[in-house]
Amino acid sequence: MRIDDLVVLGRSSPDILRNGRPSVCTAGYSPKHGFVRLYPTRMDSLLRVWNIVSVTVDRNPQDARPESWKIEGSKADWDRLSEKIEVMGELNRTARLALLTPLISRCVIDIETSGRSLGLVKPSERECYFSAREDHDHSIQRTLLGGTVPRGKDGYTLQPRARYRCSGCIASRRHDQQILEWGIYEWMRKHPGEEGLVWDNLFHNEAKQEILFLVGNQARRPSSFMIVSILRVPRPRDRLSQSQVA
Ligand SMILES: [Zn+2]
Repeated sequence: MRIDDLVVLGRSSPDILRNGRPSVCTAGYSPKHGFVRLYPTRMDSLLRVWNIVSVTVDRNPQDARPESWKIEGSKADWDRLSEKIEVMGELNRTARLALLTPLISRCVIDIETSGRSLGLVKPSERECYFSAREDHDHSIQRTLLGGTVPRGKDGYTLQPRARYRCSGCIASRRHDQQILEWGIYEWMRKHPGEEGLVWDNLFHNEAKQEILFLVGNQARRPSSFMIVSILRVPRPRDRLSQSQVA
């Protein structure tokens, strides 16, 4: 099957598969097919957030979640997998909020009880923080040439997390979830010792944006949701200026 209208909404920090391949989980929304998870994808793919892409997909026999797909031939053609993704364009800044607003769920619990594995929520009472990883892998793999092999999430000493409520939260207390977003791990990799600054960096323009969390569960633990991506969506400018006048 070909999905030709997939809007990329997030990429998780890579994990290293047993065969040594660093693999990224990509999530997005297709107006024709709904929420979509593509796994595995390569680090060098053109699956940037807000890109609209066309890609031929297959079901993954090891993942029964309705939103989960793999790129056709992802095993045999791994080296050329990124060539199978055709970028059709980029979703216009002004069209982003219009696309996502109808997709916002009242609470993560609603996403779970409706049997979905991906969804969008609008967080409030948000508190982003780092916790120490207990499963941190201290060994840093090196290639024969001396370069550093990409690290999986367990190669970091810290784990980014967020506590929050959804816009219509029905949970008994705030959600407390791991954040998988690649961009935050890239900040950690490039700014050791200054990890906490990533939140200021992410949210410095918040007055002009809607902050949305793209959440997804784990294949083996359907009730365990994580934040795949923190979306910062521009608010329409005219509406902002009108509300300022009012
Ligand atoms: Zn909630």
